Order: sequence, then structure tokens, then C-alpha cells
Amino acid sequence: MPRPTLLLSVDFEDWHQLVRRRVGASNWEEAGPALARETDALLALLDELDVHATFFVLGMAARAHPELLEAIVQRGHEIGCHGDAHRPVHTQTRDGFAADLRAAKTTIRELTGRTPVGYRAPAFSITRAADWAFDVLAQEGFAYDSSQHDSPAIRDHVVPAKRAPHRLDAGLWEFPVAVWRARGAKIPVGGASYWQLLPTPVLINGLERAGPLAGLYLHPNELDPEPLDAMLPPTATVAQKAHAKLREAQRNGARRRAPGALRAIAQRFDLIPYGEAHARLDGGA
Ligand SMILES: [Zn+2]
Repeated sequence: MPRPTLLLSVDFEDWHQLVRRRVGASNWEEAGPALARETDALLALLDELDVHATFFVLGMAARAHPELLEAIVQRGHEIGCHGDAHRPVHTQTRDGFAADLRAAKTTIRELTGRTPVGYRAPAFSITRAADWAFDVLAQEGFAYDSSQHDSPAIRDHVVPAKRAPHRLDAGLWEFPVAVWRARGAKIPVGGASYWQLLPTPVLINGLERAGPLAGLYLHPNELDPEPLDAMLPPTATVAQKAHAKLREAQRNGARRRAPGALRAIAQRFDLIPYGEAHARLDGGA
């Protein structure tokens, strides 16, 4: 029996930048040592499993760590686009969204010589209020999107949600994130942040039922060999420190489980980058 195939992706961003910006820390944009450490661990794990992934690269993280993109390309992974500033699409205007895409594409082209054709929205934020985003993506030259996640945690997502990859009216392809629909419940099984919540056999069972070419996504921080620490400046307030500690605790749970869960998934499924799936479907369509 052929092994089923899942699509493997990494939302390539610096958790430290994002959590510091969220709590309002003055040093939020600074590049720390964590993303390099996390990327090394992630690339080593993908080499060990002999798989390639799509890295949806966030422009602002790439500018702070230009050397990391070179390492990702050298190891044969696909470069996609995660936008530039990680602002939810439904909070942007159409023109603002186009400008964010162009800024990210410029950074990615300058650092890798490649033009990304795949897009993943920050926090899956192409909602019903922002379904114009698909037209903008097509106009900006994107061939596929992977921003649809039929998870109870994503409010107002585009309906009806579909399980399988499909062509959108705008012309580009959509690759939905893996969701296990079990007796009326929707269990998001595609994201490494959820893998800590499910015993491995249950996770595998859910992925087998998620639909053809369902998508998986990880973040570099989920592979960090060291506990996460937002490294706020000494001037941070008690409230900012408490907020950051809560975020660290949430993410550290996922961090401990992700490598083992991905190894178990790779034993059962073929894992391919999104671009490979797109070439198969688009070539055959
Ligand atoms: Zn993100």
C-alpha cells in the first residue's frame, strides 16, 4: 500500500521578535541568538528524516538573520512567503497587504535570489472579511496559498472549508491545513503546537483522516533545544514580564514534543514541500 503524503512547512519567524513586540518591549526588533540555534536544530532534524519542507519566510525575521536563509536554501528546501511584518491580513487594507507582500518578496529575493510563489498568512488570517486577499496574491504573482485552517481557534475563516487542495476563483491553488473531523468535532492536527496535546497514535490516526495532501506546519521555536526566554530589557514592567512568562510557558510545552512527533509522522507518511504538490496538481490540471 502506498504511503499517504502530507505537506511539510515551517513558518519561518523569530518568536522572540514577535513576543517582545506583543508585550510592547522596546528591544523587540533586535536579533538574538535563538533563531540561529532553532534553525540549526530544525535543519538537522529534516536532514535526519531525509525530507524537504517549504519555509514560509517572514521578511522582518529574514532581515535580522540574513545568513539563515542561505543555510535553508543550501539544504534544498523551498522558500515561500509569510509576509513582512506579521500583521493579520484582515486588519490590513488591500494596498497595505500588497505592500507587505512586496516588502517580503524584495527581502527574500535579495537574500536568496529566488522569488517565492507560495504564501501563508500570519495566524491564518485570510478570513471572510479579507477574502480579497486571494486576488491580491494572484496579482502579485503567487501560484498557491496555504492560509486556510478550518480550526475552531480561527474565527471567521472562509466557508465552506474544504479538505483537499483546490483551485480558487482568483486562479491560484489553496492547500488547507490538516484538520481531523471526528464525530462533528474539528481537531486541528496540522500544527506542531497541537501535537503536545495528543498521544502519538491518536495524532497519526487523525492525520490519516485529515484529507489528501493535508498540510503540516512548524515554527522554529518548537525545535529550540533550550527553554524559550523572551529576553526583555531590564526596563520591562512587571506586567510585560508576566505576559512574556505566560507566552514562554505555552510555547515550551510544544517545544518538548515536536521533534518526537515529527519523527513518528515521517515513519508513517511521505512528507513533501508544497511546491512539489503544486507542480503535481497544476501540471495535471
Ligand atoms: Zn507566523
